[in-house]
Amino acid sequence: MPFADILGHDRNVDVLRRSLRSGKTAHSYLFEGVPGSGRKKTALTLIQALFCTTLQDDACGVCPSCRRIDAGNHPDIHVIEPLPDKRDISIEQLRELQQQLSLRPYEAPRKACIIDPAERMSVNAANSLLKTLEEPPGNALIILLTENAGMLLSTVRSRCQTITFAPLSPEHMLTLLERNGMAPETAALLAPMSGGSMQKALELDNESLTLRRQEVLTRIAQMNIHRISTVFDASEELSGNRDATLELLDMLLSFFRDAVHLGAGNGDIVNRSVRPAIESIAAKRSFPANLELLERIYETRRDVQRNANSKLALDHLFMALAGNSR
Ligand SMILES: [Zn+2]
Repeated sequence: MPFADILGHDRNVDVLRRSLRSGKTAHSYLFEGVPGSGRKKTALTLIQALFCTTLQDDACGVCPSCRRIDAGNHPDIHVIEPLPDKRDISIEQLRELQQQLSLRPYEAPRKACIIDPAERMSVNAANSLLKTLEEPPGNALIILLTENAGMLLSTVRSRCQTITFAPLSPEHMLTLLERNGMAPETAALLAPMSGGSMQKALELDNESLTLRRQEVLTRIAQMNIHRISTVFDASEELSGNRDATLELLDMLLSFFRDAVHLGAGNGDIVNRSVRPAIESIAAKRSFPANLELLERIYETRRDVQRNANSKLALDHLFMALAGNSR
């Protein structure tokens, strides 16, 4: 992505572009700031601009090198993170990195690496990096990401050019969340709560999705064909505009697919966080009845997508959901 897509860090971007134009980028950078504030995006754009075959101080986004980096598969970029289930970045990982950096680049003018988060390097690992930071083999570019530079060895800090990333403002968060495809209402709700971190905003979004799932499951569990008002109340409450209704139907599809899986004796389900509720859906009806409902939900989704009246379509579906229990 070009530098213009990085929001909220104009000063940092200026500094980096100026150094690109003068050909005086540092060997080693330390990008400090809260995770989710744009450090990694900026690091990747810096590398992209360095590798770009068209522009000198930005990523063109269309040359093969830029495209490969956007796709996350450039062979000359190494991203070092703690291995799964490990807390720290080990000295073995850094040895391997140093080995890689000492090889000739495949296609870029030089190699680049991102170490994230740098404060998770073990002391041995960090010490082993000192020489590399000072004189990177093959003129490699090294970018360390950290939440707090104070957590790094001073010998590491002093060998890097530090650039500080402030948390994103709520306005920038709002723009970025919407660009990410989040509904404007959700983005407006989450932007001020996220502490200027996209990562945090996305975590909060997951939490609100979990709450919504619970709410939907509770409502459908309460529906009772003998008290028809519960059916219409649920339909009223859960239907919204067309998008909200489609989202609800996707949720129901996912629940009933899981229930059918359980009914077929397959214990591996998607909605693990609400497993007891899925088990009760599976147990409420026979296996064929749940299959039929699943088909019914698919049909309703198709109808709503083709502009059927959302509320009416849900009324019918919910009557079916409340009706044929065993
Ligand atoms: Zn390019």
